[in-house]
Formats: sequence, C-alpha cells, structure tokens
Amino acid sequence: MDELVTQFRNLSALPLEQKIVNVVDILFVAFLIYRLLMLVRGTQAWRIIAGIGTYLLVYWLSGKLGLVTLSWLLEKGMYLGPTALVILFFPQLREAIDAFVPQTLLLQKLVVSNNEERMEARTVEEIVAAMAELAADRVGALIVVERVSHLDEYAANGVQLNATVSSALLESIFFENNPLHDGAVIIRGDSIMAAACRLPLSASKNLDTHVHMRHRAAVGISEVSDCLSLIVSEERGTISVASDGTLRRLTSHTELRTILNRELRNIEENPTPERRPTLRRRRPKVTP
Ligand code: ATP
Ligand code: MG
Repeated sequence: MDELVTQFRNLSALPLEQKIVNVVDILFVAFLIYRLLMLVRGTQAWRIIAGIGTYLLVYWLSGKLGLVTLSWLLEKGMYLGPTALVILFFPQLREAIDAFVPQTLLLQKLVVSNNEERMEARTVEEIVAAMAELAADRVGALIVVERVSHLDEYAANGVQLNATVSSALLESIFFENNPLHDGAVIIRGDSIMAAACRLPLSASKNLDTHVHMRHRAAVGISEVSDCLSLIVSEERGTISVASDGTLRRLTSHTELRTILNRELRNIEENPTPERRPTLRRRRPKVTP
C-alpha cells in the first residue's frame, strides 16, 4: 500500500508531457479491459474470470496468513494456468481475436490494398444475372465475394471448383437437386473458388426475426472479413447484401449491380448499361 502511495506521489511530480503520455497509456489499457469485459459478459468466460480472481485472492491470502503448503500449491498451479486457459478458452479467444479483426482489416486495406483481386465487368454482370434469376425462381443462394482478406479457410471446408464465374454455373450450383446447393459459394476475382462452404454464423441481436441461418451465415462471414455477401432468400425471393456485419435488403438487381461496381470495381455507375440481365422464362414448379 505504501508503495502505491509513493508511486502516486512520483506521478504528480512528473512533467506535463509525461503525465499526458501516462493518461493516454492508462486510457488504452482501460479500453482494452473494457472490451475484454464486454466480450466475456454473459458468457462462460465471465465465470472463469471470476474463478481466476478468486484463485488470486486465495493465493494472496494464503501468503498473508502464512499457509505455506496452500500457497506453494497455488503458486505451482499458476505455472500451468496460461496453458490450461488457452485450452479451455480456445473458442472465446478466437472470438476475442475476431472482434479486433475490423481494425486489422482497416490497416490491411491501407497497407495492402493492391492484394484485392479486381473483378471484370463481365463477372459483375454474370453475378447480377444469376442473382436476378435465382430471386425470380425463389431459389435460395449465398455468394461471398472476397476482397482484401482471403477466405481460404472457409473455401477449404467446401468443394473446390476454381471455375470461371458464369450465371449458368452459379444458377446450377444453387439448383436444389445439386449436391453443392447447401452452403455458400466463394468468389475470388473472376473465379468461383469453392461451393458448399460452411460459414460462421453471426450472433448479432440486431438482425430481424425473419433472418435465419443463410442470412446469419452471410452476416457472420462479413463480421470476420471485409467480404461482400450476396443472399437470395428462398422464402421471399429477395436479394440482400451483407458487409461489415450489417445486412441490407435490396429493392432490385439493378441496385445490386450498382453496389458490386462500386465496391468491387471502384466504379460509381454501371459502365456497360447495354448489358442488362435478361430474365429467362421461369422454370415451371414441378408439382406431384
Ligand atoms: P431463406 O430466406 O432463404 O429461407 P434463411 O435466412 O431463412 O434463408 P434458412 O432457411 O435457415 O435461412 O436457410 C437454410 C440454408 O442456409 C441451408 O440449407 C444452407 O444452404 C444455408 N446455411 C445454413 N447454415 C449455413 C452456414 N453456416 N454456412 C453457409 N450456409 C449455411
Ligand atoms: Mg428460411
């Protein structure tokens, strides 16, 4: 305690610039602790943090009260602590790291923006045509378009295709009798990397109640990467786009074209207005 008081006295004797640096330092640490507490609040991790607090308290008390054996045992236990915590909290740790991903992505964008594969105008048109057709036919679909951050980890859990993007291929993938129709298609540049990919589901409480797994997966992947997720709702035949953890329902495929050109090609208006997706005749519903 005396040491703490002395430390405070030393602090007040510091020059003004040093005081400001210290305040900023403390604010950073406070922010990190706050983010950590917010992340674990209401989760299992919260109980573990309380457990660690109790452990440290008992360890401190055992030292103060001269309980030599208990103190020795608890001290030895501390060496194993970090390893045990990593094993026990692997999912939570991953979540915590993911929570810092947006900031990392921003940095990545600034530093390695040329990492992004540019998309050809033709590819945008093929995607728009496929989405329009799938929406008209009420065929559920989920297409994730990579930007700066690579999604190999998610592509690896699906079926590798490495095929040129075409509306016919996209439509046939999501056709309900196709074994690849469940899950997401991942696009890099102008090629379809993989289909039937499992994506992380968003746990966001801000999504509408009608939003289920497909839309949650679309939002989930946009929370952990800077991708653009495109969704066709099987139930409503609507087209939505998810990015940066937010979901937006579009009014038409024309709006989708504008977004894709702006986000993936840095072009404000459609450069090839003459090439609109021509909706083919709707497939007749097969009724038994
Ligand atoms: P829709 O409006 O099309 O009905 P929805 O948001 O209501 O979509 P569901 O009806 O639950 O969602 O969609 C189920 C489909 O979502 C599955 O058949 C599968 O293709 C897809 N899906 C579910 N979970 C995932 C996941 N983790 N990653 C990718 N796709 C998923
Ligand atoms: Mg549904």
